[in-house]
Amino acid sequence: MEGNWVMLRCQCGRNFGSRANSNYNCPRCNKKTSLSTIKSFSSSSELRHAVSKANVPDEIVKELSSRLASYENSESSSGGLTSEDIKKILSFAKLPDDSITIGSVDESMIRLNLKKMSAERLMELLETSSMVLRNSNSSWSVLQ
Ligand SMILES: [Zn+2]
Repeated sequence: MEGNWVMLRCQCGRNFGSRANSNYNCPRCNKKTSLSTIKSFSSSSELRHAVSKANVPDEIVKELSSRLASYENSESSSGGLTSEDIKKILSFAKLPDDSITIGSVDESMIRLNLKKMSAERLMELLETSSMVLRNSNSSWSVLQ
């Protein structure tokens, strides 16, 4: 099957990955009208490589940090996870096939002593930041 995954580009310059035909907003400016499809891919890993190549990693990290900051402001109980913490959690949580699950993220948060919010919440946050992409089998691919 071809074209299950697409790389989208927003007019603001942000590239991100999505499932084909899903209803996504730009993770940076939250617009959806200004998106164009750059390319479609048959696997999420091809998409992942293309998206990480297209975006400047520093920029993504900055974006995530500001999202975390506003998230923390709105959710006073969540505690402070920095983007460094998130990177550690994700690299620790990666399974041999490079995917992550709620379980592996939870375990990695506990092991790293960074259990400052639930794994479900963290995944939600990462999803809206386009850091991860949901696969069909309740696992996620790490995009960045
Ligand atoms: Zn945008």
